[in-house]
Amino acid sequence: MRHLLDLSLEEIETELATWGEPRYRAKQVPEWVFHHGATEFAAMTNLPPALRSRLAEAFTIAAPTVLAERVADDGATTKALLDLGGGDAVETVRMDYDPDEDGAPDRVTVCISTQVGCAMGCRFCATGLQGFTRNLTPAEIVAQVLHFSRSASGTNRVTNIVFMGMGEPLANYGGTVAAIRWLTRPEGLGLRQRGITVSTVGLVRGIDRLSQEGLQVGLTISLHAPDDELRRSLIPTSGGTTISQLVAAARRYIERCGRRVTFAYALLDHVNDEPEQARALARRIRGIQAHVNLIPYNPTAGPDLRRPSIGRVRAFQRELQAAGVNATVRIERGIEIAAACGQLRTDIQRANVSPIAVRP
Ligand code: SF4
Repeated sequence: MRHLLDLSLEEIETELATWGEPRYRAKQVPEWVFHHGATEFAAMTNLPPALRSRLAEAFTIAAPTVLAERVADDGATTKALLDLGGGDAVETVRMDYDPDEDGAPDRVTVCISTQVGCAMGCRFCATGLQGFTRNLTPAEIVAQVLHFSRSASGTNRVTNIVFMGMGEPLANYGGTVAAIRWLTRPEGLGLRQRGITVSTVGLVRGIDRLSQEGLQVGLTISLHAPDDELRRSLIPTSGGTTISQLVAAARRYIERCGRRVTFAYALLDHVNDEPEQARALARRIRGIQAHVNLIPYNPTAGPDLRRPSIGRVRAFQRELQAAGVNATVRIERGIEIAAACGQLRTDIQRANVSPIAVRP
């Protein structure tokens, strides 16, 4: 049965209009889902019973079953594996930041997936090693945020979304943009567009398309290398896309959206973390309103790659900063619960875990 959130608000309005329902009903339904956490139409008590029944015959608003959930960082990081049916599962991670003296976080970020698996095949990524299964629907993307927002209230409500889980968001363009619209519109979750960041391995056409959506979402582009040859070896599917083309696409995005772009750079020991490589990277991106997010490699079971020492990480960062490039090191979250994309799913598959909540 079709999930209601696979339709846009405008499509729900059209559908309900054909049923003879007034326009305002179309807004009441998603408000129950997003603002009250409803998972069945029967809960929508300000809707006539006949309409609730008809909606339930035509659509579902069910939430996915939780296959596994792990908590780390003294409760500040939670990773969930959600069952999408048909043997497909998807990961989502909640991260709480900057707690006040009562422990209430100032910022709650949810990292979400857009595909089951991924076709991009990055050498350093657990998801890339699993291969691609399928795109997620808008409802399946939104469900990951709803999983955490349903249990949140008041001071620990979700404030930020990063599209950095399994999959390449711009390879599931329609699903990604439809989900962003639900997450940001008032009848949906009502998040600030600026609180959302889309992370891409570097699909230039997708970046340009996103820049013309009239959205103000942040953009992160994965570089991972200062030269095209090394980048191709780390991201085999990057094909003919050059770093120059990506930097040009980033400039266009900044011009059109007025947002700073982040370049992600996974640091791999003695592969792309030499001081000379930092200087070369700085030369490629100098003068652009962007900053570099350095991500020390999060070890996966598969590839023969290592995490650099903290000394090498800091040395790389210093070289970038000395060259005038703003560079930060990503705060490690949940490494003990396998927070790198695809790792929880890999762990669960290896252990052949049946549906169960895994908590420490
Ligand atoms: S790093 Fe991202 S784009 Fe690359 S294989 Fe993993 S999920 Fe796909």
